[in-house]
Amino acid sequence: MGYIGRFAPTPSGPLHFGSLVAALASYLDARANKGHWLLRIEDLDPPRSDSGSIDAIFSCLDTFGLHWDGTPMFQSKRQPAYHEVLEQLRQQGRIYACSCSRIQFQADPLYSCQCLTQPPSLKDVAMRIVLPQTSITLDDVIIGPQTQHLSNDVGDFVVQRKDQLFSYQLAVVADDAEQNISHVIRGSDLYHQTPRQVWLQTCLGYKQPIYGHIPIITNHQGQKLSKQNLASPLDITQAPALLSEALERLGQTTPCTFRKAPVEEQLAQAIAQWDINSVPKQMQDPIAFV
Ligand code: GLU
Repeated sequence: MGYIGRFAPTPSGPLHFGSLVAALASYLDARANKGHWLLRIEDLDPPRSDSGSIDAIFSCLDTFGLHWDGTPMFQSKRQPAYHEVLEQLRQQGRIYACSCSRIQFQADPLYSCQCLTQPPSLKDVAMRIVLPQTSITLDDVIIGPQTQHLSNDVGDFVVQRKDQLFSYQLAVVADDAEQNISHVIRGSDLYHQTPRQVWLQTCLGYKQPIYGHIPIITNHQGQKLSKQNLASPLDITQAPALLSEALERLGQTTPCTFRKAPVEEQLAQAIAQWDINSVPKQMQDPIAFV
């Protein structure tokens, strides 16, 4: 099938500098490997998505010269596929209804969920997946190997929420498989979530993509740039300078003369020189950007 990469923004607001770095990393890795680069709009949660943000994402990527292949996939149109995946897991006896709150389940060390053995009534329940008592090890092309004991370190996670929305974990795995994604290059805030995705891929018989996680861009308080902490939208009038800044954050050397060059020129050079081994590996020391 060859290399197929993707960028999968959640349309909860305009793209910010952190999104640009993530988009750029996956784009460059795909193009440098003569691969396809697909776009997926993760509008799984309708109240958090708006069509204005989606249009803004399209035009922003265009302005930065990050042109995707084919037609974007929308998670909001994939509900039947997610139902099928849930059904497959149900038939394998891997999911159970749970009425516990997220706080009880995750935060209280003394709390023990009894829902697996004493099923709650089927109203107002989430669906959780039973996890194995084994460790999952996977190699990350940027950060290196990680091992996680899903059952001890994470606990049975939600695949369908109480409000019936499918979880990010279930949707991302179904979509990466549907789009035949071979390489997932994304922000390291998702690094520790990857073993959950690998477990779902194993249950569903999907091929495991290759993963690479880039350091996240943070504000001066050390928080990941996001709409919640009011990250400024990308200023598209400054596209060449921002692109050049993003390339530097990814450890790619750009001659100073390039800082003002049109984005197409910068991208062509960056594709030719892309070196994934130069991407910084550290997650403990995220890069601060206002
Ligand atoms: N939708 C996620 C985000 O915007 C990215 C998910 C992924 O790349 O797997 O942060």
